[in-house]
Formats: sequence, structure tokens, C-alpha cells
Amino acid sequence: MAELIDGKKISQDLKDEVKAQVSELKAKGVEVALAVILVGNDPASTVYVGNKKKACEYTGIRSESYELPEDTSEKELLDLVERLNNDDKIDGILVQLPLPKHIDEDKVIRSISPDKDVDGFHPESVGRLSIGAKGFVSCTPAGVIELLKRSNTPLDGANAVVVGRSNIVGKPMSMLLLRENATVTVCHSHTKNLKEVCKNADVLVVAIGHPKFIDASYIKEGATVIDVGIHRVDDGSKKLCGDVDFESAEKVAGKITPVPGGVGPMTIAELMNNCLQSALMKLQ
Ligand code: NDP
Repeated sequence: MAELIDGKKISQDLKDEVKAQVSELKAKGVEVALAVILVGNDPASTVYVGNKKKACEYTGIRSESYELPEDTSEKELLDLVERLNNDDKIDGILVQLPLPKHIDEDKVIRSISPDKDVDGFHPESVGRLSIGAKGFVSCTPAGVIELLKRSNTPLDGANAVVVGRSNIVGKPMSMLLLRENATVTVCHSHTKNLKEVCKNADVLVVAIGHPKFIDASYIKEGATVIDVGIHRVDDGSKKLCGDVDFESAEKVAGKITPVPGGVGPMTIAELMNNCLQSALMKLQ
């Protein structure tokens, strides 16, 4: 049976480390602050924003909340972002996605100053990651690297396979694994022989968006399996599952993340860490 990688514990450790550093900064008169912008009242987004605010409270990061009506114009949103870009008291700006259809999401992401882009979605942040320069990294893949490192999974020279090539998970994930000197293969919906490619992985990261898609037949004996997927099980039970068929995979894998309690909690912990890093960068 595979060893569990406990994302709940690892994310708690990371949040406690952030909290300690935020408190040290506070003692020196420096406050870390995150501006959170929510447009409209999408129920899932409202929950995510609530969780982010709770994590801010826990770590001692001041959160400034902007809850704007659904009919907010693109210009009003861009003006607010611009004002926050120029506000020295704000270290990070987070615009909760998705935005209402009449607002160009891409334009809004590009309007956030790369120095406050704690979500790591700005093209400049993505470019910095590609060339190995300092910058913000998308929180979910950053959280996966932390899970791998803190579970002592060897990455240097390892065969790492990432299933999925989205801009927020798969692509940055592959760049981060490359940065750790893994030999990286990225798979997507046009990949031939997916099973054979996955079976060659020492580290398999799955972000495919299909519930329980990857079972034991895709996994090499002893491999480390990271499941990024989150889905509600379709049986009315409100249970969650991932992109990996956990019951089947844990019989073959060496280490594995559960859903829930794996990658999920890491995303918010990394957001808090990005806010702290932003404040620290300003002091340099
Ligand atoms: P996307 O839908 O944006 O991307 C899915 C990727 O999987 C695409 O690159 C797609 O390929 C690839 N893919 C789809 N079907 C197949 C297939 N049959 N074989 C091989 N590749 C395939 O999803 P995201 O990256 O945004 O999210 C992935 C999962 O992670 C979702 O379950 C999501 O809910 C979860 N998630 C979890 C987060 C967390 O905090 N834990 C945060 C973000 C996402 P192609 O490019 O060719 O279409």
C-alpha cells in the first residue's frame, strides 16, 4: 500500500511558517496585505474567496476585500486594479476567476502589476518561470513541488510525467519539475500511448480534469502519484474524488496524495506564501 502524502499537514506547516515570518515583519512595522477582488456572486467563487480571507486571518496577512456587483464594467475593474497597483500598502492582488462574460479576463490578468501578481497568471510571471528568473509561480503547481520536496521524493534526474498542459497547472508544473532537474514529459489529449508514457514515470502528476481517469494500470510500481483533480462524486453523497482512481492506484504507487487533503489545501498556503514573498521582495 502506498504511503500517503498528507497535504493537510504540509499546508498547515507552510501556513505556520508564513505566519511566523509575517509576525516578525509586523514587529518591524511592516504589514503584509492582500487585495481580493470578487465580481458577482458565483457560489463556488464566494466560497474560495471566503477561504482565502480565512487563511489571511490565520497567517496575520491583512486582507482588503472588494466585492463588486455582477454588472461592474471592465473599465471599473481595470481602474480598481490600477489603483491597487499604485497602493504601496498592498503586496498582492488577486482577482477571483472566472469573471462575468462581459469582462475580458486576459486583459484583467495583464493589468495586474507583475510585482503584485500573487496568482502567478501574468504573462511576465509565466515568462520569468520559463527562464528561471525570480517571480511568482501559480499556486497549485508551486504547492505540488512543496508536497514532493517535503515528502522527500527525489526529483533530480527522475522521470516526471505531467498529464495536462493548462496554463495554470500543467505548463507551470512542467517548468517547475524541469527547474528541479527532473526529465519531464508533458501529456495532453493528443498524446499517443498515454498509458505507456505514464508507466515510465517515477513521479506522475495528474491534472486532466476527468474523475478517476488514471488507475493502477498507468502507474509504475513504487512511483509517486500527485492528483491535482477535484470533482464531486456523482452519487449525491457530496464526497470528493480526484483525477486518479485512488483505491486502485494506492495498491501500486509508492506515495500518493489523497483527494481531499492532498493538493487542494496547498494552493491557499502557497497564495499566503506568495504574499509574504512579495512583501519581502519590496524590502530588498
Ligand atoms: P483543463 O481542463 O484546463 O486542462 C486539462 C488538461 O488535460 C488539458 O491540457 C487536456 O489536453 C488534458 N486532457 C484532457 N483529456 C485528456 C486525455 N484523455 N488524455 C490526456 N490528456 C487529457 O484543467 P486544469 O488544468 O484547470 O485542471 C485540471 C484538474 O485539476 C481539474 O480536475 C481541476 O478541477 C483541478 N484543479 C485543482 C486545483 C487545486 O487547487 N487542487 C486548482 C486547479 C485545478 P488538451 O490541452 O489537449 O485539451
